[in-house]
Amino acid sequence: MKPSKQLEMSADKRLRRVTFAYQTASLVVALFSLFWAVVFAANRQWGLAIAELFPTITGVVGFVLARAGRLDAVLVIAELAFFIFITGFCLWFDTNMADAPRVTHLFFLTLAVMGYLNHMRRRSVFQMAITGASLIAFVVFASCNLQLPGAQPIPVSIRQIGVWLNASLSTALLWGMICALQREFVNPSAVARELPAAIRNGQLQLFYQPQTDLNGVIVGAEALLRWNHPKRGWVSPDIFIPAAETAGLMPTVGGWVLKAACETLAAWKAQPALCDLTLAINVSPSQFNRDGFAELVQETVSLYGIDPTKLKLELTENVLIGGIEAVAERMNILRTIGISFALDDFGTGYSSLSYLRRLPVYQLKIDRSFVQGAVESPQGAALVRNIIRMGRDLDFIVLAEGVETAAQHLFLRDGGCHQFQGYYFGRPVPIGTFQLQVVSAELVTTPHTLQARITAAF
Ligand code: C2E
Ligand code: CA
Ligand code: CA
Repeated sequence: MKPSKQLEMSADKRLRRVTFAYQTASLVVALFSLFWAVVFAANRQWGLAIAELFPTITGVVGFVLARAGRLDAVLVIAELAFFIFITGFCLWFDTNMADAPRVTHLFFLTLAVMGYLNHMRRRSVFQMAITGASLIAFVVFASCNLQLPGAQPIPVSIRQIGVWLNASLSTALLWGMICALQREFVNPSAVARELPAAIRNGQLQLFYQPQTDLNGVIVGAEALLRWNHPKRGWVSPDIFIPAAETAGLMPTVGGWVLKAACETLAAWKAQPALCDLTLAINVSPSQFNRDGFAELVQETVSLYGIDPTKLKLELTENVLIGGIEAVAERMNILRTIGISFALDDFGTGYSSLSYLRRLPVYQLKIDRSFVQGAVESPQGAALVRNIIRMGRDLDFIVLAEGVETAAQHLFLRDGGCHQFQGYYFGRPVPIGTFQLQVVSAELVTTPHTLQARITAAF
Protein backbone atom coordinates (compact mmCIF):
# COMPACT_ATOMS: atom_id res chain seq x y z
CA MET A 1 0.00 0.00 0.00
CA LYS A 2 1.21 3.52 -0.74
CA PRO A 3 2.70 5.30 2.34
CA SER A 4 0.46 8.36 1.89
CA LYS A 5 -2.62 6.10 1.92
CA GLN A 6 -1.36 4.38 5.10
CA LEU A 7 -0.94 7.75 6.80
CA GLU A 8 -4.48 8.74 5.91
CA MET A 9 -5.65 5.42 7.34
CA SER A 10 -3.88 5.87 10.68
CA ALA A 11 -5.38 9.37 11.02
CA ASP A 12 -8.73 7.84 10.08
CA LYS A 13 -8.33 5.13 12.71
CA ARG A 14 -7.61 7.73 15.41
CA LEU A 15 -10.65 9.77 14.36
CA ARG A 16 -12.84 6.66 14.41
CA ARG A 17 -11.57 5.81 17.92
CA VAL A 18 -12.31 9.30 19.25
CA THR A 19 -15.74 9.31 17.58
CA PHE A 20 -16.51 5.92 19.13
CA ALA A 21 -15.44 7.16 22.60
CA TYR A 22 -17.69 10.26 22.31
CA GLN A 23 -20.62 8.19 21.07
CA THR A 24 -20.24 5.67 23.91
CA ALA A 25 -19.88 8.37 26.58
CA SER A 26 -22.99 10.19 25.25
CA LEU A 27 -24.97 6.95 25.23
CA VAL A 28 -23.90 5.97 28.78
CA VAL A 29 -24.92 9.38 30.11
CA ALA A 30 -28.27 9.26 28.25
CA LEU A 31 -29.08 5.76 29.55
CA PHE A 32 -27.98 6.49 33.13
CA SER A 33 -30.08 9.67 33.27
CA LEU A 34 -33.04 7.88 31.68
CA PHE A 35 -32.73 5.21 34.36
CA TRP A 36 -32.97 7.90 37.07
CA ALA A 37 -35.85 9.63 35.27
CA VAL A 38 -37.77 6.32 35.38
CA VAL A 39 -36.88 5.70 39.05
CA PHE A 40 -38.04 9.18 40.03
CA ALA A 41 -41.21 8.90 37.92
CA ALA A 42 -42.02 5.54 39.57
CA ASN A 43 -41.74 7.28 42.94
CA ARG A 44 -43.94 10.15 41.71
CA GLN A 45 -41.03 12.62 42.01
CA TRP A 46 -42.07 14.52 38.89
CA GLY A 47 -39.69 17.49 39.32
CA LEU A 48 -36.70 15.15 39.60
CA ALA A 49 -37.89 12.98 36.72
CA ILE A 50 -38.20 16.04 34.44
CA ALA A 51 -34.77 17.31 35.59
CA GLU A 52 -33.19 13.95 34.61
CA LEU A 53 -34.62 14.31 31.11
CA PHE A 54 -32.25 17.24 30.56
CA PRO A 55 -29.02 15.12 30.60
CA THR A 56 -30.90 12.34 28.78
CA ILE A 57 -31.69 14.67 25.86
CA THR A 58 -28.16 16.12 25.97
CA GLY A 59 -26.73 12.59 25.77
CA VAL A 60 -28.93 11.77 22.75
CA VAL A 61 -28.00 15.04 20.99
CA GLY A 62 -24.32 14.32 21.75
CA PHE A 63 -24.67 10.82 20.28
CA VAL A 64 -26.28 12.14 17.07
CA LEU A 65 -23.66 14.91 16.65
CA ALA A 66 -20.79 12.46 17.26
CA ARG A 67 -22.26 10.13 14.61
CA ALA A 68 -22.36 13.08 12.19
CA GLY A 69 -18.67 13.76 12.94
CA ARG A 70 -19.34 17.08 14.73
CA LEU A 71 -16.95 16.28 17.58
CA ASP A 72 -16.14 19.86 18.58
CA ALA A 73 -19.84 20.69 18.79
CA VAL A 74 -20.45 17.60 20.99
CA LEU A 75 -17.80 18.72 23.43
CA VAL A 76 -18.99 22.30 23.81
CA ILE A 77 -22.68 21.37 24.11
CA ALA A 78 -22.06 18.43 26.46
CA GLU A 79 -19.68 20.25 28.79
CA LEU A 80 -21.84 23.37 29.05
CA ALA A 81 -25.04 21.37 29.53
CA PHE A 82 -23.53 19.14 32.23
CA PHE A 83 -21.99 22.05 34.07
CA ILE A 84 -25.38 23.76 34.20
CA PHE A 85 -27.18 20.51 35.10
CA ILE A 86 -24.81 19.50 37.93
CA THR A 87 -24.95 23.01 39.42
CA GLY A 88 -28.74 23.15 39.24
CA PHE A 89 -29.14 19.63 40.61
CA CYS A 90 -26.83 20.35 43.59
CA LEU A 91 -28.66 23.61 44.40
CA TRP A 92 -32.18 22.31 43.96
CA PHE A 93 -32.34 18.55 44.66
CA ASP A 94 -29.10 17.04 45.96
CA THR A 95 -28.69 19.06 49.15
CA ASN A 96 -26.59 17.79 52.07
CA MET A 97 -28.42 15.59 54.59
CA ALA A 98 -27.26 13.83 57.75
CA ASP A 99 -28.20 10.32 56.49
CA ALA A 100 -26.99 10.64 52.92
CA PRO A 101 -24.42 13.24 51.84
CA ARG A 102 -24.53 15.18 48.57
CA VAL A 103 -22.67 13.34 45.78
CA THR A 104 -23.68 15.01 42.48
CA HIS A 105 -20.84 17.53 42.87
CA LEU A 106 -18.34 14.65 42.42
CA PHE A 107 -19.11 14.85 38.69
CA PHE A 108 -17.43 18.29 38.66
CA LEU A 109 -14.09 16.49 39.06
CA THR A 110 -14.80 14.35 36.00
CA LEU A 111 -15.77 17.46 34.06
CA ALA A 112 -12.56 19.25 35.16
CA VAL A 113 -10.34 16.38 34.00
CA MET A 114 -12.34 16.11 30.75
CA GLY A 115 -11.81 19.84 30.06
CA TYR A 116 -8.08 19.51 30.75
CA LEU A 117 -7.76 16.45 28.51
CA ASN A 118 -9.50 18.25 25.66
CA HIS A 119 -7.32 21.30 26.20
CA MET A 120 -4.22 19.08 25.92
CA ARG A 121 -5.52 17.63 22.64
CA ARG A 122 -6.24 21.03 21.17
CA ARG A 123 -5.42 24.24 23.06
CA SER A 124 -8.63 26.06 23.90
CA VAL A 125 -9.62 28.89 26.23
CA PHE A 126 -13.11 27.36 26.53
CA GLN A 127 -11.73 24.02 27.78
CA MET A 128 -9.49 25.74 30.34
CA ALA A 129 -12.47 27.85 31.50
CA ILE A 130 -14.56 24.68 31.97
CA THR A 131 -11.71 23.06 33.94
CA GLY A 132 -11.29 26.09 36.23
CA ALA A 133 -15.04 26.60 36.74
CA SER A 134 -15.56 22.89 37.54
CA LEU A 135 -12.79 22.85 40.13
CA ILE A 136 -14.15 25.99 41.82
CA ALA A 137 -17.69 24.55 41.80
CA PHE A 138 -16.41 21.28 43.32
CA VAL A 139 -14.69 23.11 46.18
CA VAL A 140 -17.78 25.27 46.83
CA PHE A 141 -20.26 22.37 46.90
CA ALA A 142 -17.91 20.14 48.91
CA SER A 143 -17.30 22.84 51.53
CA CYS A 144 -20.77 24.15 52.32
CA ASN A 145 -24.40 23.20 52.07
CA LEU A 146 -25.25 25.69 49.37
CA GLN A 147 -28.89 25.34 48.25
CA LEU A 148 -31.75 27.39 46.82
CA PRO A 149 -34.44 28.71 49.19
CA GLY A 150 -37.22 26.58 47.65
CA ALA A 151 -35.06 23.43 47.28
CA GLN A 152 -36.83 20.07 47.08
CA PRO A 153 -34.35 17.51 48.47
CA ILE A 154 -34.45 13.96 47.05
CA PRO A 155 -36.33 11.61 49.42
CA VAL A 156 -33.98 9.75 51.81
CA SER A 157 -35.10 6.28 50.62
CA ILE A 158 -33.91 7.03 47.04
CA ARG A 159 -30.85 8.97 48.18
CA GLN A 160 -29.43 6.01 50.06
CA ILE A 161 -29.12 4.03 46.82
CA GLY A 162 -28.28 7.11 44.73
CA VAL A 163 -25.31 8.01 46.90
CA TRP A 164 -23.63 4.68 46.13
CA LEU A 165 -24.59 4.60 42.46
CA ASN A 166 -23.57 8.19 41.70
CA ALA A 167 -20.35 8.01 43.73
CA SER A 168 -19.43 4.76 41.91
CA LEU A 169 -20.24 6.15 38.45
CA SER A 170 -18.41 9.46 39.00
CA THR A 171 -15.35 7.56 40.33
CA ALA A 172 -15.44 5.16 37.36
CA LEU A 173 -15.67 8.10 34.93
CA LEU A 174 -12.80 9.85 36.71
CA TRP A 175 -10.71 6.69 36.46
CA GLY A 176 -11.52 6.46 32.72
CA MET A 177 -10.46 10.08 32.24
CA ILE A 178 -7.18 9.50 34.10
CA CYS A 179 -6.45 6.47 31.90
CA ALA A 180 -7.16 8.61 28.82
CA LEU A 181 -4.84 11.33 30.18
CA GLN A 182 -2.15 8.74 30.78
CA ARG A 183 -2.46 7.43 27.21
CA GLU A 184 -2.15 10.98 25.95
CA PHE A 185 1.03 11.59 27.96
CA VAL A 186 2.65 8.16 27.91
CA ASN A 187 2.45 7.79 24.14
CA PRO A 188 4.46 10.91 23.35
CA SER A 189 7.26 9.88 25.70
CA ALA A 190 7.34 6.39 24.17
CA VAL A 191 7.52 8.05 20.76
CA ALA A 192 10.30 10.33 21.95
CA ARG A 193 12.24 7.36 23.38
CA GLU A 194 12.15 5.57 20.03
CA LEU A 195 13.00 8.58 17.87
CA PRO A 196 16.82 8.67 18.23
CA ALA A 197 17.03 5.02 17.19
CA ALA A 198 14.58 5.72 14.34
CA ILE A 199 16.98 8.36 13.00
CA ARG A 200 19.94 5.99 13.30
CA ASN A 201 18.04 3.16 11.61
CA GLY A 202 16.93 5.26 8.66
CA GLN A 203 13.22 5.20 9.52
CA LEU A 204 12.75 8.93 8.86
CA GLN A 205 11.98 10.00 5.34
CA LEU A 206 11.16 13.25 3.59
CA PHE A 207 8.05 13.49 1.43
CA TYR A 208 7.75 16.22 -1.17
CA GLN A 209 4.69 18.31 -1.96
CA PRO A 210 4.73 20.46 -5.12
CA GLN A 211 4.48 24.24 -5.06
CA THR A 212 3.25 25.75 -8.33
CA ASP A 213 3.27 29.18 -9.94
CA LEU A 214 0.46 31.06 -11.71
CA ASN A 215 0.85 28.87 -14.82
CA GLY A 216 0.62 25.63 -12.86
CA VAL A 217 4.34 24.96 -13.31
CA ILE A 218 6.04 23.23 -10.37
CA VAL A 219 8.60 25.72 -9.03
CA GLY A 220 9.57 23.90 -5.87
CA ALA A 221 8.49 21.61 -3.06
CA GLU A 222 7.92 21.57 0.66
CA ALA A 223 9.74 18.71 2.39
CA LEU A 224 7.45 17.07 4.97
CA LEU A 225 8.79 14.60 7.47
CA ARG A 226 7.47 11.03 7.79
CA TRP A 227 8.39 8.23 10.16
CA ASN A 228 8.23 4.72 8.76
CA HIS A 229 7.71 2.93 12.09
CA PRO A 230 8.31 -0.86 11.99
CA LYS A 231 5.12 -1.62 13.97
CA ARG A 232 2.84 1.41 13.51
CA GLY A 233 3.49 1.98 9.82
CA TRP A 234 3.71 5.56 8.57
CA VAL A 235 3.45 7.96 11.52
CA SER A 236 2.30 11.52 10.85
CA PRO A 237 4.52 14.44 11.95
CA ASP A 238 1.50 15.86 13.79
CA ILE A 239 1.97 12.96 16.22
CA PHE A 240 5.73 12.70 16.66
CA ILE A 241 6.92 16.32 16.19
CA PRO A 242 5.11 17.67 19.29
CA ALA A 243 6.56 14.71 21.26
CA ALA A 244 10.04 15.39 19.91
CA GLU A 245 9.58 19.06 20.77
CA THR A 246 8.61 18.24 24.39
CA ALA A 247 11.54 15.82 24.74
CA GLY A 248 13.99 18.44 23.41
CA LEU A 249 14.77 16.27 20.37
CA MET A 250 13.86 18.81 17.68
CA PRO A 251 17.44 19.99 17.12
CA THR A 252 18.44 16.38 16.31
CA VAL A 253 15.37 15.72 14.16
CA GLY A 254 15.65 19.14 12.49
CA GLY A 255 19.37 18.56 11.87
CA TRP A 256 18.51 15.33 10.06
CA VAL A 257 15.89 17.15 7.95
CA LEU A 258 18.37 19.89 7.02
CA LYS A 259 20.96 17.33 5.90
CA ALA A 260 18.43 15.26 3.96
CA ALA A 261 17.11 18.39 2.18
CA CYS A 262 20.61 19.53 1.26
CA GLU A 263 21.38 16.05 -0.05
CA THR A 264 18.29 16.27 -2.27
CA LEU A 265 19.20 19.74 -3.54
CA ALA A 266 22.71 18.49 -4.30
CA ALA A 267 21.25 15.63 -6.34
CA TRP A 268 18.84 17.99 -8.17
CA LYS A 269 21.69 20.37 -9.02
CA ALA A 270 23.04 17.88 -11.54
CA GLN A 271 19.69 17.31 -13.26
CA PRO A 272 18.45 19.86 -15.81
CA ALA A 273 14.77 19.11 -15.14
CA LEU A 274 15.11 19.62 -11.40
CA CYS A 275 17.97 22.07 -10.88
CA ASP A 276 15.73 25.18 -10.77
CA LEU A 277 13.45 23.84 -8.02
CA THR A 278 13.47 25.37 -4.56
CA LEU A 279 13.08 23.18 -1.49
CA ALA A 280 11.39 24.40 1.69
CA ILE A 281 11.94 22.76 5.06
CA ASN A 282 10.08 23.36 8.31
CA VAL A 283 12.16 24.68 11.19
CA SER A 284 10.73 24.51 14.68
CA PRO A 285 11.16 27.46 17.08
CA SER A 286 13.37 25.47 19.48
CA GLN A 287 15.63 24.48 16.59
CA PHE A 288 15.86 28.00 15.14
CA ASN A 289 16.47 29.70 18.49
CA ARG A 290 19.21 27.31 19.52
CA ASP A 291 22.77 28.71 19.62
CA GLY A 292 24.74 27.75 16.56
CA PHE A 293 21.72 27.25 14.25
CA ALA A 294 22.86 29.78 11.63
CA GLU A 295 26.37 28.27 11.65
CA LEU A 296 24.96 24.74 11.28
CA VAL A 297 22.94 25.79 8.21
CA GLN A 298 25.95 27.52 6.67
CA GLU A 299 28.17 24.48 7.27
CA THR A 300 25.61 22.01 5.88
CA VAL A 301 25.01 24.15 2.78
CA SER A 302 28.72 24.31 2.02
CA LEU A 303 29.29 20.64 2.90
CA TYR A 304 26.81 19.58 0.20
CA GLY A 305 27.89 22.36 -2.16
CA ILE A 306 24.31 23.43 -2.90
CA ASP A 307 23.04 26.77 -4.16
CA PRO A 308 21.73 28.42 -0.92
CA THR A 309 19.12 30.39 -2.86
CA LYS A 310 17.31 27.10 -3.51
CA LEU A 311 16.84 26.41 0.21
CA LYS A 312 13.86 27.96 1.97
CA LEU A 313 13.28 27.81 5.72
CA GLU A 314 9.65 27.83 6.88
CA LEU A 315 9.12 29.45 10.28
CA THR A 316 5.93 30.05 12.20
CA GLU A 317 5.18 33.15 14.26
CA ASN A 318 6.01 31.08 17.38
CA VAL A 319 9.66 31.55 16.53
CA LEU A 320 9.34 35.07 17.97
CA ILE A 321 9.44 33.51 21.43
CA GLY A 322 13.20 33.95 20.97
CA GLY A 323 12.76 37.77 20.89
CA ILE A 324 12.37 39.74 17.69
CA GLU A 325 15.88 41.24 17.77
CA ALA A 326 17.65 37.89 18.12
CA VAL A 327 15.40 36.25 15.54
CA ALA A 328 15.91 39.08 13.01
CA GLU A 329 19.69 38.96 13.53
CA ARG A 330 19.85 35.22 12.90
CA MET A 331 17.58 35.50 9.85
CA ASN A 332 19.73 38.30 8.44
CA ILE A 333 22.90 36.23 8.78
CA LEU A 334 21.31 33.44 6.73
CA ARG A 335 19.69 35.89 4.32
CA THR A 336 23.10 37.32 3.41
CA ILE A 337 24.28 33.91 2.24
CA GLY A 338 21.17 33.60 0.05
CA ILE A 339 18.80 31.49 2.15
CA SER A 340 15.20 32.68 2.09
CA PHE A 341 12.42 32.51 4.66
CA ALA A 342 8.73 31.70 4.43
CA LEU A 343 6.31 32.60 7.19
CA ASP A 344 4.23 29.45 7.68
CA ASP A 345 0.58 29.17 8.80
CA PHE A 346 0.22 32.92 8.35
CA GLY A 347 -2.80 34.38 10.12
CA THR A 348 -3.11 31.72 12.80
CA GLY A 349 -0.75 33.33 15.33
CA TYR A 350 -1.39 36.14 17.72
CA SER A 351 1.64 38.33 17.13
CA SER A 352 1.38 41.93 16.00
CA LEU A 353 1.74 42.50 12.29
CA SER A 354 4.42 45.13 12.89
CA TYR A 355 7.05 42.37 13.22
CA LEU A 356 6.56 41.54 9.54
CA ARG A 357 8.45 44.62 8.37
CA ARG A 358 11.31 43.93 10.76
CA LEU A 359 12.05 40.40 9.59
CA PRO A 360 13.66 39.50 6.24
CA VAL A 361 10.72 37.32 5.17
CA TYR A 362 10.50 36.40 1.47
CA GLN A 363 7.25 34.49 1.39
CA LEU A 364 3.91 34.44 3.24
CA LYS A 365 2.09 31.12 3.38
CA ILE A 366 -1.62 31.69 3.88
CA ASP A 367 -2.90 29.00 6.22
CA ARG A 368 -5.21 26.27 4.92
CA SER A 369 -8.05 27.31 7.23
CA PHE A 370 -8.32 30.69 5.46
CA VAL A 371 -8.16 29.04 2.04
CA GLN A 372 -11.07 26.79 2.96
CA GLY A 373 -13.03 29.70 4.42
CA ALA A 374 -12.49 31.81 1.28
CA VAL A 375 -15.06 29.95 -0.80
CA GLU A 376 -17.48 29.32 2.07
CA SER A 377 -18.58 32.86 2.95
CA PRO A 378 -18.24 36.44 1.68
CA GLN A 379 -16.48 37.33 4.95
CA GLY A 380 -13.96 34.51 4.46
CA ALA A 381 -13.37 35.69 0.90
CA ALA A 382 -12.86 39.30 2.00
CA LEU A 383 -10.40 38.22 4.68
CA VAL A 384 -8.26 36.24 2.23
CA ARG A 385 -8.34 39.04 -0.35
CA ASN A 386 -7.08 41.46 2.31
CA ILE A 387 -4.30 39.11 3.44
CA ILE A 388 -3.13 38.70 -0.17
CA ARG A 389 -3.26 42.46 -0.76
CA MET A 390 -1.29 43.13 2.41
CA GLY A 391 1.31 40.50 1.48
CA ARG A 392 1.69 41.98 -1.98
CA ASP A 393 1.92 45.54 -0.63
CA LEU A 394 4.78 44.42 1.61
CA ASP A 395 6.51 42.83 -1.42
CA PHE A 396 6.17 39.25 -0.25
CA ILE A 397 5.62 36.28 -2.52
CA VAL A 398 2.19 35.09 -1.40
CA LEU A 399 1.61 31.33 -1.41
CA ALA A 400 -1.74 29.74 -0.55
CA GLU A 401 -1.57 26.43 1.32
CA GLY A 402 -4.09 23.59 1.36
CA VAL A 403 -5.65 24.36 -2.05
CA GLU A 404 -7.95 21.40 -2.66
CA THR A 405 -10.37 22.48 -5.39
CA ALA A 406 -10.43 24.29 -8.72
CA ALA A 407 -12.79 26.88 -7.20
CA GLN A 408 -10.30 27.71 -4.43
CA HIS A 409 -7.46 27.92 -6.96
CA LEU A 410 -9.43 30.24 -9.23
CA PHE A 411 -10.42 32.52 -6.38
CA LEU A 412 -6.86 32.74 -5.04
CA ARG A 413 -5.34 33.30 -8.47
CA ASP A 414 -7.81 36.10 -9.23
CA GLY A 415 -7.16 37.54 -5.77
CA GLY A 416 -3.46 37.95 -6.58
CA CYS A 417 -1.74 34.91 -5.04
CA HIS A 418 1.63 34.16 -6.63
CA GLN A 419 2.03 30.49 -5.75
CA PHE A 420 -0.04 27.51 -4.64
CA GLN A 421 0.32 24.29 -2.71
CA GLY A 422 -2.28 21.67 -1.87
CA TYR A 423 -3.89 18.36 -2.78
CA TYR A 424 -5.31 19.97 -5.94
CA PHE A 425 -1.76 20.08 -7.33
CA GLY A 426 -0.35 17.04 -5.55
CA ARG A 427 -0.10 15.34 -2.18
CA PRO A 428 3.20 14.90 -0.32
CA VAL A 429 4.89 11.91 -1.98
CA PRO A 430 8.24 10.07 -1.81
CA ILE A 431 11.09 11.63 -3.76
CA GLY A 432 10.92 9.29 -6.78
CA THR A 433 7.22 10.00 -7.34
CA PHE A 434 7.76 13.74 -6.97
CA GLN A 435 10.62 13.81 -9.46
CA LEU A 436 8.56 11.83 -11.94
CA GLN A 437 5.71 14.33 -11.49
CA VAL A 438 8.03 17.28 -12.27
CA VAL A 439 9.61 15.62 -15.24
CA SER A 440 6.35 14.41 -16.78
CA ALA A 441 4.74 17.86 -16.29
CA GLU A 442 7.68 19.42 -18.12
CA LEU A 443 7.46 16.87 -20.86
CA VAL A 444 3.90 17.83 -21.65
CA THR A 445 5.19 21.25 -22.66
CA THR A 446 8.40 20.04 -24.28
CA PRO A 447 7.73 16.52 -25.57
CA HIS A 448 10.78 16.37 -27.83
CA THR A 449 13.10 16.31 -24.82
CA LEU A 450 11.24 13.37 -23.25
CA GLN A 451 13.94 10.72 -23.44
CA ALA A 452 16.78 13.06 -22.56
CA ARG A 453 15.03 14.43 -19.44
CA ILE A 454 14.07 11.02 -18.07
CA THR A 455 17.60 9.77 -18.53
CA ALA A 456 19.02 12.86 -16.83
CA ALA A 457 16.63 12.74 -13.87
CA PHE A 458 17.13 9.10 -12.90
P1 C2E B 1 2.69 22.45 7.65
O1 C2E B 1 4.08 22.95 7.60
O2 C2E B 1 1.61 23.47 7.70
O3 C2E B 1 2.53 21.49 6.40
C1 C2E B 1 1.37 21.41 5.64
C2 C2E B 1 0.53 20.25 6.08
O4 C2E B 1 -0.70 20.29 5.37
C3 C2E B 1 1.16 18.90 5.73
O5 C2E B 1 0.76 17.97 6.72
C4 C2E B 1 0.49 18.57 4.40
O6 C2E B 1 0.46 17.18 4.13
C5 C2E B 1 -0.89 19.10 4.64
N1 C2E B 1 -1.54 19.51 3.39
C6 C2E B 1 -0.98 19.98 2.27
N2 C2E B 1 -1.90 20.27 1.34
C7 C2E B 1 -3.10 19.96 1.88
C8 C2E B 1 -4.45 20.04 1.41
O7 C2E B 1 -4.73 20.44 0.29
N3 C2E B 1 -5.43 19.65 2.26
C9 C2E B 1 -5.17 19.19 3.50
N4 C2E B 1 -6.18 18.82 4.28
N5 C2E B 1 -3.88 19.10 4.00
C10 C2E B 1 -2.87 19.49 3.18
P2 C2E B 1 1.80 17.00 7.37
O8 C2E B 1 2.78 16.54 6.35
O9 C2E B 1 1.02 16.00 8.13
O10 C2E B 1 2.60 17.93 8.35
C11 C2E B 1 1.98 18.47 9.45
C12 C2E B 1 2.87 19.47 10.12
O11 C2E B 1 4.00 18.84 10.71
C13 C2E B 1 3.45 20.50 9.16
O12 C2E B 1 2.48 21.47 8.92
C14 C2E B 1 4.63 21.00 9.97
O13 C2E B 1 4.21 21.97 10.90
C15 C2E B 1 5.05 19.78 10.72
N6 C2E B 1 6.23 19.22 10.05
C16 C2E B 1 6.30 18.38 8.98
N7 C2E B 1 7.58 18.11 8.67
C17 C2E B 1 8.35 18.82 9.54
C18 C2E B 1 9.77 18.96 9.74
O14 C2E B 1 10.61 18.44 9.02
N8 C2E B 1 10.16 19.79 10.78
C19 C2E B 1 9.27 20.44 11.58
N9 C2E B 1 9.73 21.23 12.56
N10 C2E B 1 7.94 20.32 11.41
C20 C2E B 1 7.48 19.52 10.41
CA1 CA C 1 5.23 24.23 6.46
CA1 CA D 1 1.52 25.48 6.96
